[in-house]
Amino acid sequence: MMSKAGYKNLSNLGEFGFIDRIAARVSGGPGVITGIGDDAAVTALTPGMQLLTSTDMLLEDVHFRRSWHDPYHLGRKSLAVSISDIAAMGGIPRWSLLSLAIPSDLPLDFLDEFIRGYLAMATEQGVALIGGDTCSSRSGLVISVTIMGEQLPDLILRRSGAAPGDDIWVTDTLGDAALGLKLLEGGLDSAQPPNIAQKPDCPLIGVEGLLSRLLDPTPRTVAGQALAGSGLVSAMIDISDGVLADYGHIARLSAVGGSINLEALPLSPAFCSAAAGFDSFPYQLALSGGEDYELCFTSPPRYRENIADLLKKCGVDGTPVGIVTSSPEVKVFLADGAEFAHKTEGFTHFA
Ligand SMILES: [Mg+2]
Repeated sequence: MMSKAGYKNLSNLGEFGFIDRIAARVSGGPGVITGIGDDAAVTALTPGMQLLTSTDMLLEDVHFRRSWHDPYHLGRKSLAVSISDIAAMGGIPRWSLLSLAIPSDLPLDFLDEFIRGYLAMATEQGVALIGGDTCSSRSGLVISVTIMGEQLPDLILRRSGAAPGDDIWVTDTLGDAALGLKLLEGGLDSAQPPNIAQKPDCPLIGVEGLLSRLLDPTPRTVAGQALAGSGLVSAMIDISDGVLADYGHIARLSAVGGSINLEALPLSPAFCSAAAGFDSFPYQLALSGGEDYELCFTSPPRYRENIADLLKKCGVDGTPVGIVTSSPEVKVFLADGAEFAHKTEGFTHFA
């Protein structure tokens, strides 16, 4: 739990003052028997359910930049990306642990805003913060989040289970966050394609939409649980490294391959508009760009309408983008049947 090891910052508040400050803003949640403040948290699983646990580490200037990520949205995103892993299993997110290594120059205001964002996401997703740790950092802010969730054993979806002939689905649109990052990396003003500036009906709103997909992702918890409960899905993963790489994990664990239809990848209007300003083929970002945090799952084609209806009820779009194959490679095809030579390494796990 939150220990006093090595904490030298926030000298006018102290580590325990900081923890008290967080604890005062935290309320309990389902299954929380003892939260922040004791040596360990005590929680109770819903009878019959199993525990799902995942952890993520976010390093300053590796996973985020303080100049791009304001503290409130960084707090939201830190928890959201962990919740996405529970959503990918069809689980119900319940409890989280937050550990921070804090550089000495980090203002208390930044931490307060970070915690405000983290707890806002926690409230939206029904997650309780039940503990963590703080220490000082000599090289940037380090954020470690452990998320725990639960689900009935029969409803938990894994990366294994995809069968040849299944459809490959993705939720919502792909590539928005990756294009948002590209815009930020290029300097937003200079990277802003001229065709956006010239369109009065689609000006900065489009770019802001891309940035919000990058800076404030939405974990697909509701859709994940609905898909798990439907019994129509054979395998599922969340898309953090691009659909090509992440479907590749399903393929490997299911001992299958896949055929992805490049032009079926769902693109947002903001993406299409902004991508037109770049020379490179925009689909590459939708295929291999990171941080979509959408779901990729497989399901037999006879359930196509049921899946579409189910996702509609969850308020999210779904698109079949390919077919699971028995040959152990994941290939990407254009509409005319030609194979797309994507830039990322091919999947040769079984070679
Ligand atoms: Mg994941």
